[in-house]
Amino acid sequence: MKQLITIVIPVYREVNNLERLYERLEKMTGTLPVFAWEYLLVNDGSPDHSLELLRQLAKRDAKVKVLDLSRNFGKEIALTAGVHEATSADAVICMDADLQHPPELIPKLVDEWQKGGEIVATIRTSIDKQPLLRRAGSYIYYWLMSKISGLDMVSQTTDFRLYDKKVIVAFSKATERERMFRGIMDWMGFRKVYVKFSADARTEGSAGYSYAKLYNLAVNSITGFSLWPLRLTGYLGILITSVSGALLTWMFGNYFFGSQEDYTPLAIVVVANTFLIGIVLMSIGLVALYIGTIHTEVVNRPLYIVRERLNFEEKPDHT
Ligand code: UDP
Ligand code: MG
Repeated sequence: MKQLITIVIPVYREVNNLERLYERLEKMTGTLPVFAWEYLLVNDGSPDHSLELLRQLAKRDAKVKVLDLSRNFGKEIALTAGVHEATSADAVICMDADLQHPPELIPKLVDEWQKGGEIVATIRTSIDKQPLLRRAGSYIYYWLMSKISGLDMVSQTTDFRLYDKKVIVAFSKATERERMFRGIMDWMGFRKVYVKFSADARTEGSAGYSYAKLYNLAVNSITGFSLWPLRLTGYLGILITSVSGALLTWMFGNYFFGSQEDYTPLAIVVVANTFLIGIVLMSIGLVALYIGTIHTEVVNRPLYIVRERLNFEEKPDHT
């Protein structure tokens, strides 16, 4: 029995890339006939003709499996759906459809997997034609994330990764809704190996991730992995309360047991007010602790809805 490797690819507005992607995948898998291959393309509610193209590919080649989601759920969920459906795979490779993740690198990922890597991640060494703002944003994001989540998050790693079956099984137990796919994978641990590559600029179509979407993703991953911003408010409250509390005691002492320096009642009221603000901030920090517990409990609705499956033998019972 050959080991099965499933390549999961989220597809959103990629009509111009699909054919070339398929050809490059075919060429690459042709060089590794020791494995059985499967291309699992997840159509994430593309408004263009991506689905028709995917149908044609599925008809032409039984290796091509198509999962059609009922609407656009976003890349993170599309990836999740694909990985959930890759039930019989020994390894899953995730990659983008826009050819920014060169299929030619896959043999190297597979090689590292065979040597014992459970997650084989890739690091992008150059980002051609990426605007400065985007690069700066990505740098700040990784810096902040690794600071606050305490996870090993290497800057410039991509979603182009290989996961061992063990990781995939563990992943299916993650239930949160606001998700950052890579973040969950990083959180799970496992033996990780890095492979470098330089990304090609997107040749067709435009990047589907607007700044607004990237911002949402960053916020989700920050709130998803820690309540650090809210806790910070709490710490600020403790600081303000203790400083103004000490000052207030000092002022009252002076006021009542009169020394040379007197404070006007107004000054005392101002400090007393600051003291109260400190208490309010502390309470917000406390609320954060409760929200934290609720947040981990309240995640239940299905993550995505499947409209149709092409070339799947049996329907897995995930959805
Ligand atoms: N994608 C998706 N749903 C979306 C947006 C993007 O499935 O709502 C897919 C897209 O087809 C591509 C991958 O996610 O395969 C990465 O998208 P893109 O190239 O736009 O993002 P970037 O390269 O900027 O991360
Ligand atoms: Mg891209």
